[in-house]
Amino acid sequence: MAPTGNGQIGASVARAARGLLHVSSAMAMLAVATAAAAFVTIAVDAGSKWDDRNHGTPAVVTWGFVTDGTTVDASLAGDMTGGSQISQMRATYDAQYGAGAYDAAIARAFDTWAEVADIQFVGPVPDGGGPMGTPGSNDPDIRIGAFQPVPGSGFSFAGAFGFGPPGDDLNFPDALAGDVFFNVVQPFLEASGAEDDLIAEIGNDLENLTLHELGHAAIGLLHPPFGPGIVMYVGIDCCDRINRELDPDDIAGAQTVYGPPPGDSDGDGVADTADNCLDLPNGPWAGPHDQLDTDTDGIGNLCDCDFDGDGFCSIGDFNAFLVDFVTGSDGGSGTDMDGDGFVAISDFNQFLPGFVAGVPGPAAL
Ligand SMILES: [Zn+2]
Repeated sequence: MAPTGNGQIGASVARAARGLLHVSSAMAMLAVATAAAAFVTIAVDAGSKWDDRNHGTPAVVTWGFVTDGTTVDASLAGDMTGGSQISQMRATYDAQYGAGAYDAAIARAFDTWAEVADIQFVGPVPDGGGPMGTPGSNDPDIRIGAFQPVPGSGFSFAGAFGFGPPGDDLNFPDALAGDVFFNVVQPFLEASGAEDDLIAEIGNDLENLTLHELGHAAIGLLHPPFGPGIVMYVGIDCCDRINRELDPDDIAGAQTVYGPPPGDSDGDGVADTADNCLDLPNGPWAGPHDQLDTDTDGIGNLCDCDFDGDGFCSIGDFNAFLVDFVTGSDGGSGTDMDGDGFVAISDFNQFLPGFVAGVPGPAAL
């Protein structure tokens, strides 16, 4: 949860839709209904990021926990009170999940973002002191604290607040830039199960929530308007499943702000020299979509619109797609491009860009 800038959401959707005007109107309507980017950056073109304010440039960011007892700036007194209680929060968590579990969950959340974009995190480093959110108390870049909520406040209903990087004084004043505040009276847990499993316990999965807050504080993203499964989404059906892996939309947002990680153009954790879809993330984070290549031609399903194997994506492939689309099954043809087990609109949206380009890929081979 964090302050939002809803004025930018409309612009983002409009931008996404514009790219589809190349194809026929019927196709475009199908595609607009289900595809397109959802991510929302705090600033549209530049700013609201660490280091260089220009989008697409890398950053090195420091982080750490504030010392127990650190207070908050008067501007936050309506939401939280008293001194930070990170040690108590950590002790409660570790008592249930084992020594070191708390710090490991936080560190994994940083690592998950660092894997997909050209941003490095250095921490935890010692805190510079001073109340959180007070001008001048900006060391390290990202300060993490845990506080008692003021009853009835917005914070009292949230698991945490995360404030974006410096650069947008309207939504995220510099004094609060990068700060993350946990609500200590909320239950924090390490949900049992795997990615996408329903969370059986009552409470916030710590790694999941931290990943979301760092999407605000470390990366500079806001809440997208739609998209269960997207880490930054908080609408209907957002939060009942384990979600510790970034969605392609989260990754696209992070790369818009910081660029892709070196040597991995799409940030999917598979180096460009071995990636069977260079521009579309189909790597380890994606579970069953891992580098899926049904026809074993070296081009991953996600970017392989050449179903008949003639080297081009043309009307013959379009017809092959339609045949499978009617039955919903790919029968080994590779038309299940996103690897979810069905041939559906989501696959058609993967097919369209390649059909427009006329060729599959690009892939490493
Ligand atoms: Zn949020």
